Amino acid sequence: MADPPPLTADCALFLDIDGTLIDIADHPLDVVVPAGLVSTLRELRIRLGGALALVSGRSLAQIDLLLGETPFDLAGSHGFEWRDGSGQDQVLADRDPALEKVADQIVTASSGLRGLYVEHKAYSIALHYRSNLELVDQAWALARAGADSLGPDFTLLGGKAVVEIVSAHAKKGMAIERFLAAPPYAGRRPVFAGDDLTDESGFAQVNRDNGVTIRVGRETPETLAKFSLPSTAALRAWLGGVL
Ligand SMILES: [Mg+2]
Repeated sequence: MADPPPLTADCALFLDIDGTLIDIADHPLDVVVPAGLVSTLRELRIRLGGALALVSGRSLAQIDLLLGETPFDLAGSHGFEWRDGSGQDQVLADRDPALEKVADQIVTASSGLRGLYVEHKAYSIALHYRSNLELVDQAWALARAGADSLGPDFTLLGGKAVVEIVSAHAKKGMAIERFLAAPPYAGRRPVFAGDDLTDESGFAQVNRDNGVTIRVGRETPETLAKFSLPSTAALRAWLGGVL
């Protein structure tokens, strides 16, 4: 796949965080935000007339913890929750109280599985097996059972060494579409960079809008993205090109 064309100031920019802007760590709490990243994004946001949003599987609360107080528009929890210029955090639906119980059940059921980390997020449950890739089948089986007990409003979303029980109604592509329907995004050419299976719905949406889709990483999986960059560092350098 080719390198993406240079970023221009008339686009609407959507960026995944983990694996795209910053390197993935064994544990989601161990990631390191490179020095200068937030200030680069702040400058970019101004250069783009405000049309910059981060679109992540992390919850809004987790993104705030990671990046500190920022002015960025956000879509968190794979688009289930979002924050735009209105200044108000919004959510697709109330939290399902059964999520708590299922998370506890999975933690109990997986207590003997060393290397499996069960992350109880605001609106989802992620089972990470990056520390022990041999647990892939057990992780998926536990997640499948959990999703089944939660019912049709939940589904499974696979990513890099992670399987997540998520709302069946939220997708990153939907979050991008929502941003593009209103200022300052409307009428701009969308650009979306992501690194994982969870980003494919975003690639599909942005391709439909004749935008630019970029897959970050050295792997060459099947992807809907039209362009690629080899690393998070390469993506950050590409973003700096418009400044
Ligand atoms: Mg990612």
